Amino acid sequence: MKKSLSLLGLSALLVTSSLQAAEFFTIGTGGVTGTYYPTGGAICRLVNKERKTNNLRCSVESTGGSVYNVNSIMSGELDFGTVQSDVVYNAYNGLDKFEGKPNKELRSVMAIYPELLALVVSKASGIAKLEDVKGKKINVGNPGSGNEATGLIVFDAFGIKKSDLAQAGVLTAPECPMALKDKKIDGYFYMVGHPTANITDAANSLPVDIVDIKGEKVDAILQKYPYYAKGIIPQGSYPGVDRDVHSLGVKAVLVGSSKASDKMVEAIVKAILDNFDEFKNLHPAYKSVTKESLLEGLSAPLHPAAEAYYKKVGLLK
Ligand code: GLU
Repeated sequence: MKKSLSLLGLSALLVTSSLQAAEFFTIGTGGVTGTYYPTGGAICRLVNKERKTNNLRCSVESTGGSVYNVNSIMSGELDFGTVQSDVVYNAYNGLDKFEGKPNKELRSVMAIYPELLALVVSKASGIAKLEDVKGKKINVGNPGSGNEATGLIVFDAFGIKKSDLAQAGVLTAPECPMALKDKKIDGYFYMVGHPTANITDAANSLPVDIVDIKGEKVDAILQKYPYYAKGIIPQGSYPGVDRDVHSLGVKAVLVGSSKASDKMVEAIVKAILDNFDEFKNLHPAYKSVTKESLLEGLSAPLHPAAEAYYKKVGLLK
C-alpha cells in the first residue's frame, strides 16, 4: 500500500513537472474573418505539432490589428503579433501613429505574405474610383488597425480629408460586411491577404466592387515610402469582382520583442521552414510565398534567434 502510494506520488510529481516546464505564448492577430487570424492558427498548429519535444504551447488571440499588436507586444501583453510592414517601419522609427515613440526593441521574425489594400464598396454606392468617396460613409478602420493607418496615408496622398466624407467609420473589419449590407456604410478599407473570408462574405451578401487604387498619386506614395509596392487582387478572388483590381500593398510580418525567448522564435521559424509545403497549403494568400520571400519586406531588425536559424539553413549569409 505504502509502495503504491509513493509510486502514485512519483508519477504525480512527474506529470506536474512536465506541465510546469511547458511554456505558453500568444500570437496577436486581427479579426477572426481576416487572414491574420488563420495565419496565427497555422503557425501555432505547426509549432504545437512538436510540443512533445519543444514543450511549447502556442495560442492565437483575435485583436484590433497591426497597431494594437505592436503596442501589446511592447507592453508585454502579447508575445508575438502579425503586423503590416508599413506599421512595423513606423513603429520602429517613431513615425505616424508612433510619432515621437520609437519602439527600438521591436524585432522581425518573418515577412509572411503580401497584403493589398482593398476599398470594398457596395455597387449601389456608385463609388467607381477613390475620389468618389467624398460625401460617402466610408469605414476607414478601428483605431489600432493597420487598415486605418494605411487608409489615411492613401487619403492624404489623394488629397482626401476625413471631413470630406459623410462619415469616417471606426468599425472593426469583421463588422463591415453586415454594415455594408445594411447600408450603414458605403465602403470599407481592408489591408489584407487575399482572398479573405471577410470580403467573400460581403460579396456573397450583396453586389460589391473593389475600387482600383492606382495612378500618379500611388506612384508618389511609392516614391515617398519604401515599404509599399504595387499589386493586383486577381480577377476571380471574389464573387462579382470580374477584373483584376490594382492596388498597393505591404507584407504581413510576424514580429516580437527583442526579449522574446530564443527558444520560441526558433520554434516558429523552424516550424514554418520544416513544414513549408504544408504551411503553404493552409491558406490561398500564401500562393506566392517562397522561403526567400520570408526575408523580404522586414522593416525592423531580425530577432537574433531568427537570424541564426535563417543562417543555419542557408537563407542568410
Ligand atoms: N492588416 C490588417 C490590420 O493590421 C489586418 C488584416 C487581417 O486581419 O488579416 O489591421
